[in-house]
Amino acid sequence: MSMTVYNYAAGPAVLPRPVLKQVQAELLDYRGSHQSILEISHRSPLFNDIYAAAKERVLKLLKLDNRYDVLFLQGGGTLQFTMVPLNLATKYHRAAYANTGHWAARALEEARKIPHLQADQVTDAGPDFTTIPAVPQLPAGKYDYLHITANNTIYGTSYHHLPATTVPLVGDLSSNFLGQEYQFDRFALLYAGAQKNLAPAGLTIVVAQRQLLAADQGLPSMLNYAALARKASTLNTPPVFQIYVAKLVLGWLEEQGGVQAIAAANQRKAALIYDFLDNSRLFTNKVARTARSFTNIPFTTGTPELDQRFIAEARQAGLLNLAGHRLVGGMRASLYNAMPYEGAVALRDFMAKFEKENQ
Ligand code: PMP
Repeated sequence: MSMTVYNYAAGPAVLPRPVLKQVQAELLDYRGSHQSILEISHRSPLFNDIYAAAKERVLKLLKLDNRYDVLFLQGGGTLQFTMVPLNLATKYHRAAYANTGHWAARALEEARKIPHLQADQVTDAGPDFTTIPAVPQLPAGKYDYLHITANNTIYGTSYHHLPATTVPLVGDLSSNFLGQEYQFDRFALLYAGAQKNLAPAGLTIVVAQRQLLAADQGLPSMLNYAALARKASTLNTPPVFQIYVAKLVLGWLEEQGGVQAIAAANQRKAALIYDFLDNSRLFTNKVARTARSFTNIPFTTGTPELDQRFIAEARQAGLLNLAGHRLVGGMRASLYNAMPYEGAVALRDFMAKFEKENQ
């Protein structure tokens, strides 16, 4: 009998099993074309249909109308740390950044490399990053945008309410994309690397107000939202396979009932682990309750050797990739959209067993 295996990796991460099966079934002959999806041209009608469907599904799932457009780009979330300021900080040449963790700090750091741009850190959740501090009122007419990291993958915190601000809001949703409910039209622009909740690595989704994308700053083409939007993200060869998988995952998310249902399912999975942690005599999670992430849960026994043993024994039991990020150590369970409820149950049960054995 084969063991049931669950993958709690923070990214690249678990994909829905039915989607992987469909990819496998279609791999050698995509829809009677006698070509693999890995071989088809990005200029073919086959790809155009995939692209159009993926884009439509993103907008529908986010409940956004045609005032918004979707770009399918490369370069990961990290390239957006540069593209956002280059394209958006053009009126006041000043941007505000909420620093709620490693990736938020990286976004700020990259913005600061751009000449003639002032990037201000307006909140600080450090040094442990266990909270999401309120963003102070920002003066009108001074900032081009406010950047937040909606979910902090390493520290396991999340915005459960978007900051009230009149400054255009930009969000890095890499680790809770389509897995947590927001009023998405509060964002001027949001982006997400695909490899946690949507597709294999190599694809980055940018969703933004069309009007914002239309403002061409004359930037080099591959850094220029307007140029990319005009060419429907195909200024160069796009990641066809990743966009195809994204289209299938988006269809699967629709079948699950959309963002509301997925967010509820993610909360149920997370609650199982947090409830256990709150009553545990061995494991702790130090994040403020109001800031707890639904998708990334760091925890520790408080002893590095015991943590290592937990990770190793969990792996033996088929619970994979539970090591925390190298910056913080300990453990981290990523319970993204595609993680089944049974995966959270299996983890909770294993933690309970380990706790009993290590009283
Ligand atoms: N933002 C967040 C919130 C992340 O978690 C990550 C990666 N873990 C990144 C950005 C960087 O993404 P990428 O590797 O796609 O550049």
